[in-house]
Amino acid sequence: MYIVFLGAPGAGKGTQAATVAGKLKLAHIATGDMFREAQKQETELAKQARVYMEKGVLVPDDITIKMVLERISAPDCEQGVIFDGFPRTLEQAKALDEALVKQDKMIDNVVYIKVSEAELLERLSGRWICRQCQTPYHMVNSPPRTKGRCDRCGGELYQRPDDTPETVKERLRVYFAETAPLIDYHNRAGKLLEVDGEGGVDEVRERILESLEKGSVK
Ligand code: AMP
Repeated sequence: MYIVFLGAPGAGKGTQAATVAGKLKLAHIATGDMFREAQKQETELAKQARVYMEKGVLVPDDITIKMVLERISAPDCEQGVIFDGFPRTLEQAKALDEALVKQDKMIDNVVYIKVSEAELLERLSGRWICRQCQTPYHMVNSPPRTKGRCDRCGGELYQRPDDTPETVKERLRVYFAETAPLIDYHNRAGKLLEVDGEGGVDEVRERILESLEKGSVK
């Protein structure tokens, strides 16, 4: 199965995609995580992406599409993938559709996690991320057991530099201008599953799994 998780920054895509991918035994491709990983290693890709990420705008399509197409040719993607934070533009969506068709595959479903703008701002302002495994926490809604340490791997927690109030505002603007139109694109293709993203993490995960079970074309 090839599933896309779509939603604004702070909608919970990362948290939900990681657990759902584990449950369904699918690879998890999160483009934001891939760019952040590249930053740690100071690769050429990192240099190209950094300037855009710092401003809260999208990394150009050619760079992003190339990175994802390379990634999906890896053996662990054979049984299926959950895409998290990709595609984010119409051009990326079309490139992914074309690449999958060439392999006789297609996107089965798009899970659109819907959260109000007020809630998104609240979530992003309290967000802390594990430097090692990228697990997100919220200082009020889902704090770690030990302050400053990841429950899963013990890694150090940090606030993403693009979670500052100005950059968050810009990322939400970019989402509504460039990514939200994809809701309509996937809906017209009959693949959209809209899920209420407000409430507890477990509650939202159950809604997603139920919706995938009902809406799955397989
Ligand atoms: P995220 O972790 O998904 O919020 O992504 C963090 C940043 O990485 C974004 O603000 C963009 O600068 C960049 N990024 C992640 N995914 C994409 C994408 N599909 N297309 C372009 N830029 C992306």
